[in-house]
Amino acid sequence: MKNSQTKSKETHAIVIGGGFGGLLAGKALSKHYEKVTIIERDAEPAPGSLAPRGGAPQGPHVHFLLPQGLIAIQRLLPKFIDAITARGANVLNLYQDMRISDLTNFKIRVKTSRNILLMSRLLIEATIRTLVAENTNIVFKYYCNAMGLLANFKENRITGVRLQDLTKKEEVNLYADLVVDASGASTCFPDWLEALGFDKPIITRVPMDYIQVSRWVRLPKEYQPDWKYTAYRDLTLRKGGYALRLEDDHEGAQWLFGFVSHFGEPITSSEKGFLEFAKKILEPELFNLLKKSKPITPIKQCSVPNIRKYSYSTNKRLPTNFFAVGDAMCLWPPHTALGLATAARAAVSLDNYLANKNISKAVNRNRIFFNITEKSINKNWDKRINKEVIPLIHPKNSIFLKFLAWYKRALSDLCTTNARASKAELDISFFPAKPFYTLFHPAIFFKVMWNKLKGK
Ligand SMILES: Cc1cc2nc3c(=O)[nH]c(=O)nc-3n(C[C@H](O)[C@H](O)[C@H](O)COP(=O)(O)OP(=O)(O)OC[C@H]3O[C@@H](n4cnc5c(N)ncnc54)[C@H](O)[C@@H]3O)c2cc1C
Repeated sequence: MKNSQTKSKETHAIVIGGGFGGLLAGKALSKHYEKVTIIERDAEPAPGSLAPRGGAPQGPHVHFLLPQGLIAIQRLLPKFIDAITARGANVLNLYQDMRISDLTNFKIRVKTSRNILLMSRLLIEATIRTLVAENTNIVFKYYCNAMGLLANFKENRITGVRLQDLTKKEEVNLYADLVVDASGASTCFPDWLEALGFDKPIITRVPMDYIQVSRWVRLPKEYQPDWKYTAYRDLTLRKGGYALRLEDDHEGAQWLFGFVSHFGEPITSSEKGFLEFAKKILEPELFNLLKKSKPITPIKQCSVPNIRKYSYSTNKRLPTNFFAVGDAMCLWPPHTALGLATAARAAVSLDNYLANKNISKAVNRNRIFFNITEKSINKNWDKRINKEVIPLIHPKNSIFLKFLAWYKRALSDLCTTNARASKAELDISFFPAKPFYTLFHPAIFFKVMWNKLKGK
C-alpha cells in the first residue's frame, strides 16, 4: 500500500466496492485512467470461485439479468456472453421455457425468438471479476475497508479515501483524481460527504419489508421438466417464489428454490419454515420433489427492509470528481430485477461521459452524469414503484392508480387463457419500451374488458 500513498496527477481512479457494479465501473474507468484501484471489504475470492461472500448477501438468491443489463455488460466486456455460457449459463427462451403462476393458475406460454441467459448471481459476478482482472491497469485491494473520504473543500474535490487494511489492521490514505461509490446498499457516502462539508443527496425511502429465503438443491435426475424457470406471484405481491435451473456443475443440474414474503406472511430460514412456505407456493408435484431433493447449500435468508434512491444532481456543493453506480444510487425491490441492469448501465454511462471530450473536460461533468442517470432511474421508479408497488401495498385514493391496479389484475386473469395477453404482460416486464402502448393495445384492452364483462 505504501506506493499508493504518493499522489499522482489525473491518473488514478478509485472504486469503492468490488461487487457487480464496482467491477463494471472499474472496467469503464480503466479505459480513461492510467490506474484504477478497486477497494473491496471482503477477502479475495479464489479465482473463478462461486462461494457466497458476506458483502453481497444476495449472492446465492435468484438473479434475473434483464436484456438491457446483458447488453450493457457486453458493451464493457465483449467476451462476457461467451465466457458465461462456457461456464454453463442456460439459454432461456422467454416465454417458452418460463412458467408464471399467480398461485392458482399458470399463464399461457408463448413461442417467441426472445432468449435471455439464466444463471446464478454468483456466476455472473465471478465471470465479470475474471474478465475485469485481465486488465493490467486495474488493481484490487481486497480485505480493505473504506472508512471515509479526503477532500480539498476549497477546490470542491475529493482527493482520496481513508482505508483500513483489515489484514495488517492499519489505516492508510489512498489518493486519487476520481472516486466512484459502488459500495452498494450499505453506502456511507452521503454521511461521508456531509462530514466534509458537502451536501448530502436527497434520499427517497419506501418501506419494503421484503424477505427472501433460498436454497440450491439437486432434483431427482429423472425429473426433466419442459421449463427452466417458474415464477410464482401472488397478485398482491405479498408472497411468491421461484424455481429455476442454474448452471450445471460436475454432478449435473443445480436448481434454486426461493420464496418471498413482501409485507406478507412470516417466512424463516429454518427447514420447517422453508417447507411450510414452499407448500403454500409450489404445485403439489414440485413441492414433493423439493421435499425429496438433495440440498446443495444451507437455506439462506436475505431481507430488504426498505428501498431508496439518491439524488445528487441538485446538490449545491457536490465534489466535481465523484460518481456513484448501482445500489449506492438506487436500491430497487428485488422482484423488479432492475438492480443489475441499472448498475451496468451506469457503468456504461460513466464510460461514455469520460470518452466525450466536451463533457469530460467540463467542470460539472458529474452533475451531467447524475442528471441523466437520475432521470432514467426516476422514469423506472415512477413506473415500477409509484404506479405498481405503492398502489398494491398501500392502496391510494388516486382513481388512475386504482384503475391501473385493477386493470393489471384483470390482464393477469386473462393471461391464463390468452396467449397475446400473456406475451404482452411479459413484454412489459422484460422489454420496457412503450409499456403503455403494450398494456393498452386495443387487441388487449378489449379482450380484458370483455373477459371482465363475462364475469371471468
Ligand atoms: C434478494 C435479492 C434478490 C435480487 N434479485 C435481483 C434480480 O433478480 N435481478 C437484478 O437485476 N437485481 C437483483 N437484486 C439486486 C442486485 O443484487 C443489486 O442491484 C446489485 O448487486 C447491485 O450491485 P452493487 O455493485 O451496487 O452492490 P453489491 O453487489 O452489493 O456490491 C457492493 C460491494 O461493496 C462492498 N463494500 C461495501 N462497503 C464497503 C466499504 N466501506 N469498503 C469496501 N468495500 C465495501 C461490499 O462488500 C460489496 O462487495 C436482488 C437483490 C436482492 C437483495
